[in-house]
Amino acid sequence: MLGGIIGDVVGSRFEGRRRRIKSKDFEFFHPDCRYTDDTVCTCAVAQWLLDGGELATILRDWVRRHPGRGYGGMFRRWAADPARGPYGSWGNGAPMRVGPVGWAARHEAEALELARRSAAITHDHPDALAAAQAVALAIFWGPQGRPRAAVRRELARRFGYDLTASIDQLRPRHRFDVSARGSTPIALVCALETQELEDAIRNAVSMGGDSDTLACMAGSVAEAFYGLPDRLAQGVRPFLSDDILALIARFRARFPKGPTSP
Ligand SMILES: [Mg+2]
Repeated sequence: MLGGIIGDVVGSRFEGRRRRIKSKDFEFFHPDCRYTDDTVCTCAVAQWLLDGGELATILRDWVRRHPGRGYGGMFRRWAADPARGPYGSWGNGAPMRVGPVGWAARHEAEALELARRSAAITHDHPDALAAAQAVALAIFWGPQGRPRAAVRRELARRFGYDLTASIDQLRPRHRFDVSARGSTPIALVCALETQELEDAIRNAVSMGGDSDTLACMAGSVAEAFYGLPDRLAQGVRPFLSDDILALIARFRARFPKGPTSP
């Protein structure tokens, strides 16, 4: 899950119309980086998987303790009002928070079911549910050493995504897009068309779109395939709060599987 959080932190300073870039050449950890909603919501899902309980309650509690992290308007209203139910969102809030599911699931069916449940409390549109499942499945497959080309083909087949274009083909035509259906395939290509976590995150930022969320999704998938270099795990620490660091440590101790870091 830390790969996704690193993506969020690195991508955060490129979020917004004036700050988007179409380049992979930038300072990776920069003083302007910060964690945003992607990290907070990912932590809520991780805590749910560790401790059980009601995800809606856990998620609202995380949001209340981490205000001002770039939450969307509808999500903010949902978080502030325990009486609110899912609101039909098709946005990428579902795949951005699903990362921990891929690590915690014991088999494929469980990955799909936990992904669906992690999304459905807010993002109950079929596109958002599917995107959460696609990202969770990719993460579940990563440590199994499946060839990336086969993973691309299988995700395309199951979810109807076009994963054939290369980064260099996608970059010039990609526009800001927060839809689950539009952004998730881009993030998957960013993660699968490389061989290391840092490069996956650079790919995602260079799309010049919803940078933090693309980088969060790409980072969470890339970690599962290529591992997490210690210099990145250490590099992100100064940007995170104590409760986030404590949760990451607890999650990684409980679900340690994954490729060995270079
Ligand atoms: Mg964000």
